Amino acid sequence: MDFKHSPADEAFRLEVRQWFKENLPRSMQRNMELGFFPPNGTDRRAFHRLLYKKGWVAPHWPVEYGGTGWTPIQQHIFEEESTHADAPYAAWSSTRLVAPVVMEFGTEAQKKKYLPPILNGDVQWCQGFSEPNAGSDLASLKSTAKLEGDHYIVNGSKIWTSEAHHADWGFFLVRTNTEVKPQHGISFLLIDMKSPGITIRPIIMISGSHTVNQVFLDNVKVPADQIVGEVNKGWGYGKFLLGNERTASAFIYYSRRELERARIVAQQEMIDGKPLIQHPHWARRFAQLDIELRALEYSVIRILTGERNKSDAFAVTSALKIRGSEIQQKVPELAADILGPRALRYFDGAVNPEIELASLMWPDYVPGRIHGALHSRAYTIYGGSMQVQKGIIAKAAFGL
Ligand SMILES: Cc1cc2nc3c(=O)[nH]c(=O)nc-3n(C[C@H](O)[C@H](O)[C@H](O)COP(=O)(O)OP(=O)(O)OC[C@H]3O[C@@H](n4cnc5c(N)ncnc54)[C@H](O)[C@@H]3O)c2cc1C
Repeated sequence: MDFKHSPADEAFRLEVRQWFKENLPRSMQRNMELGFFPPNGTDRRAFHRLLYKKGWVAPHWPVEYGGTGWTPIQQHIFEEESTHADAPYAAWSSTRLVAPVVMEFGTEAQKKKYLPPILNGDVQWCQGFSEPNAGSDLASLKSTAKLEGDHYIVNGSKIWTSEAHHADWGFFLVRTNTEVKPQHGISFLLIDMKSPGITIRPIIMISGSHTVNQVFLDNVKVPADQIVGEVNKGWGYGKFLLGNERTASAFIYYSRRELERARIVAQQEMIDGKPLIQHPHWARRFAQLDIELRALEYSVIRILTGERNKSDAFAVTSALKIRGSEIQQKVPELAADILGPRALRYFDGAVNPEIELASLMWPDYVPGRIHGALHSRAYTIYGGSMQVQKGIIAKAAFGL
């Protein structure tokens, strides 16, 4: 296998790099540099619109819906360059999660209604799958949608709903039949988050961020034509969506960028008058992570270039999710370890003046590091926990 990209792809890389250099606002870049992850909602919305204007907001979409027509390798290069430029990512739940479901299973009317505002960034979405007693065991979800005339009446509660407080619409899994096997009574319903009866309660994470919420649905009236695909077939559409979420969760670009950042920290921090990176213990940790990340990158490229059969696709996406999320945790932990006790000083990512003040005393690379390491605890949980992914591999790849 030849790991070098073609001259055409390298020319494409330069074009993308130049565009980011000329167009990415410095303020957005700085927020990412500081390491407060995930990027804030305002930056993400503005970045989405910027990419939309350029025509680059949904490279993975088919061209007829507004995709770029890039090859998988070009999409990969674009993600690398975007992360390397310290760009925030565009609306993920909208373009990567709900849109492919609407394209694949929605009616023509739904495609016309929902896809254009996703593309131009007017409407942002959140994912209402998990419930207080239904996370890994999602099929046991209890939120109900009862048909009354031309509407459903939805009742229940969803939890860990990322960005619900910024979202205009949500895609929900709800129970529409309680008489059958749990998987056979679930539907995929699109709900306007401004509907009367929806209450959003923030959940503050250990990192101090507000990204997740509990969402309560009390007698929420939802037009029946907002079901996607067939009634009671939502479990299959949810599985299709989770497959996409797990592949994207490998998040190698972000880990690569953070490893570069950690290396810069290790070049500037000194032990016994020598940069920390030159001490064997630290050099070894960097080398180990670099090897793990490269192996993952090559696995992703093998999949992108179709160098494998598709029969074990479920096992492969789960394996990528496991490796990707483990590395995603190890990298910010390494950066925090390098800083030692200074990493323990907590900064609130939302309070910029505090960070600017800290930068006068300490280098810029200090404030966001502990935030990043704490936030990373979530990576092996969301999109399906590590243990559950291992169960999927055991079943799909080894028939256990
Ligand atoms: C930051 C963050 C953002 C999230 N965003 C969203 C979102 O936007 N929308 C959404 O719907 N959900 C979201 N989630 C929820 C996420 O998908 C669930 O947390 C996850 O599926 C695990 O479910 P749970 O938290 O109920 O844990 P549980 O399912 O209760 O699991 C608890 C523990 O038991 C283990 N376990 C459970 N079942 C098995 C099994 N069969 N075999 C082995 N071990 C098992 C798990 O690995 C875990 O360690 C988010 C979660 C986090 C942390």
